[in-house]
Amino acid sequence: MLTKSLAAFEKAKQVIPGGVNSPVRSFRSVGGTPPFIKQAQGSKIYDIDDNEYIDYVLSYGPQILGHVHPTVVEAIRAASLKGTSYGAPTLAETKLAELICEFVPSIEMVRMVNSGTEATMSALRLARAYTKREYIVKFEGCYHGHHDSLLVKAGSGALTLGVPDSPGVPASIAGNTLTIPYNDVAALENLLQLKGSEIAGLIIEPTPGNMGLVLPNPGYLQAVRELTAAYGVVLIFDEVMSGFRSSEQSSQGLYAIEPDLTCLGKVIGGGLPVACYGGKKEIMQCVAPLGGMYQAGTLSGNPLAMAAGIATLEYLKAHKICAQAATNTENLVQGLRQIIAELELPCTVNILGSMFTLFFTKNQVTDFASACTSDLASFKIYFHAMLEQGIYLPPSQFETCFMSSAHTPEDIAQTLSCMRIALTKVKASLA
Ligand SMILES: *Cc1c(COP(=O)(O)O)cnc(C)c1O
Repeated sequence: MLTKSLAAFEKAKQVIPGGVNSPVRSFRSVGGTPPFIKQAQGSKIYDIDDNEYIDYVLSYGPQILGHVHPTVVEAIRAASLKGTSYGAPTLAETKLAELICEFVPSIEMVRMVNSGTEATMSALRLARAYTKREYIVKFEGCYHGHHDSLLVKAGSGALTLGVPDSPGVPASIAGNTLTIPYNDVAALENLLQLKGSEIAGLIIEPTPGNMGLVLPNPGYLQAVRELTAAYGVVLIFDEVMSGFRSSEQSSQGLYAIEPDLTCLGKVIGGGLPVACYGGKKEIMQCVAPLGGMYQAGTLSGNPLAMAAGIATLEYLKAHKICAQAATNTENLVQGLRQIIAELELPCTVNILGSMFTLFFTKNQVTDFASACTSDLASFKIYFHAMLEQGIYLPPSQFETCFMSSAHTPEDIAQTLSCMRIALTKVKASLA
């Protein structure tokens, strides 16, 4: 029952567009009422109607330690007693920067911001400032936040000029964004051959998670690295989602590729608003006040946010949390694949570290086009059947599920038995 959530949603819609502060939360693509959450603990969240859910959203990634982790909570509490914002440098900022540089060796210098959107926006400006070129390249189905340059998806063909995804994005800005398919080396080669000397930066989720989870073909990221280097294009890895999810060193560590710049977010804030962009010193030295590329933030490096980030990363390192969360995910996905095989369902599961996506397609999903072969009607049935049984999944086929170190063997067994029921329903609908 979602009686109270239904009323809350109606009330919210009066004063907030669509009742939500981020569109995916509205459940538009699956229909129905989003549960309004009042509390969380470990692997569970609770709504205002007192329903309990095992959580596979985890705030879209940040909560890798599970909700309300005592170490993180205590760090935030202690910091808040000393002041919530100063607009002056603190030791905590250096500490978090050092931790990030230590985990991700391609990052030599790092600037803190408040959201992933800010991080990618700033990284692009920096690439342009550094190269004195204007074009940028992004990949179909990769999401990098909501600023103008990156709210662009592909037309067909590598050289179709960017068309805005959203009203309000000027065509003149979108036109500087070139979009090509992921996992397609030839498309990148062609684009660079034609426009390489005018391209400032290429931004990519090395292991995309915003079209559902997609993995790079063998050698693909290596080719991206070599080609961008050959044309003097700044290679930006957007690891806002994959950071500390695919591995402790993030996807660049896992695949042994060194980008020029990296964007991180989500996990590094432990649930508070933190993101960053960083990379080679030579490039980062262009950022103000060292260089001319202007970027600033009243609340950047906020003491509460830094405290949460430091507590999360230190705990994660000391307790091998990435590996634990990944083991939980392997266990769940192994069971899921078995159910799919038994039911002979046309499904594909992609998994990496503590992330996975169940696609309702028999095709291998390796790019946006193959992700789009998924049957959205089946997803909708599956999603609602899971929600009714107390399993909270991201409300879209094109989102990734996340797990934490707080998910227990009981949670996994419970989830698998719910999956069996939900997928049997899907199977019946296909008959
Ligand atoms: C979530 C996400 C962003 C945007 O981060 P916000 O904090 O929501 O602005 C950017 N890039 C990727 C890969 C993301 O997953």
